[in-house]
Amino acid sequence: MTSAPPTPPALQPLHANPWLTRTVRIADVIDEAPGVATYRLTLDGDTDPAAYSFIPGQFNMLYLPGVGESAISMSGDPTRSDGWTHTVRVAGNVTKTLAGLKRGDTLGLRGPFGAGWPVEELAGVNLIIVAGGLGMAPIRSLIYHVVHHRNRYGHVWLICGARTPEALLYRREYDLWRQHDIDVHETVDRATADWTGQIGVVTTLIDRLRLPHPKQTQLVACGPEVMMKYAAASGVRLGIAVERTWLSLERNMQCATGLCGHCQLGPEFICKDGPVLRYDHIRPYLFVEQL
Ligand SMILES: Cc1cc2nc3c(=O)[nH]c(=O)nc-3n(C[C@H](O)[C@H](O)[C@H](O)COP(=O)(O)OP(=O)(O)OC[C@H]3O[C@@H](n4cnc5c(N)ncnc54)[C@H](O)[C@@H]3O)c2cc1C
Repeated sequence: MTSAPPTPPALQPLHANPWLTRTVRIADVIDEAPGVATYRLTLDGDTDPAAYSFIPGQFNMLYLPGVGESAISMSGDPTRSDGWTHTVRVAGNVTKTLAGLKRGDTLGLRGPFGAGWPVEELAGVNLIIVAGGLGMAPIRSLIYHVVHHRNRYGHVWLICGARTPEALLYRREYDLWRQHDIDVHETVDRATADWTGQIGVVTTLIDRLRLPHPKQTQLVACGPEVMMKYAAASGVRLGIAVERTWLSLERNMQCATGLCGHCQLGPEFICKDGPVLRYDHIRPYLFVEQL
């Protein structure tokens, strides 16, 4: 009688070891805007959906051997079991090298890291979601979450802004989100000839909202820091509590585990206490120049 073949060792869940870099393969690349593409990354041989689980707002460290490592947010559907999705803009060495890769190529990945959007705390009330430029990437994961749990949220406004119409990310999905009763508003800094929408900064649209119950409303924002500061201030003027305002911050990150201190902001390490942080916890530090 032949003995059964030995069971292969189970793959270690990614979150169990923050230093473990796993090899992932590019399964798809979608061009989103000039210099911006979305990559779907899969683990070879791992078909366990749990391997891909994350909380909307979390990020992975993408590693290009011989080049470096960068923090990149999850931009996809958290219920998807066929890989993580990242939307990346060419900024420097890592992102430029990534942009040169194609479907089937491999890279390294550590994660997921950080505190994502507080999806439980956001439930049960109205929600204003504000996204600026590439800030739409981690916001999209939150929108998927809201769509999957739509009856747990009240009125949901999505206010997205970008420099130009072509820089507005994921526009192909806006109609689907509207079908899920998400009140989508778009604005651009500079219009093109065919643009018939709003022109101006996102805060103009926030200021115009008529909130039925400001105390029963939460605001979340991701985008350039100056935009988030003004968006949070607009929310406060509308009557939204600072304890119900959440911002996703970005700083230079190296270890992603709160050890190296590169991303420290006051008492918070953005990599492990954030990137999503409550406005009242970070407000004093946001207005200190170069912190
Ligand atoms: C939590 C988090 C989530 C992110 N999510 C995304 C995402 O979804 N998509 C995306 O495209 N990007 C995202 N980023 C930004 C991304 O990590 C950076 O743009 C990263 O620097 C790109 O790596 P790179 O090697 O290509 O560029 P780098 O070589 O790091 O250079 C990028 C630019 O940043 C400047 N820079 C680099 N380090 C510093 C520093 N210490 N101080 C000041 N300026 C500096 C450089 O001069 C250059 O202009 C995220 C960052 C964080 C912290």
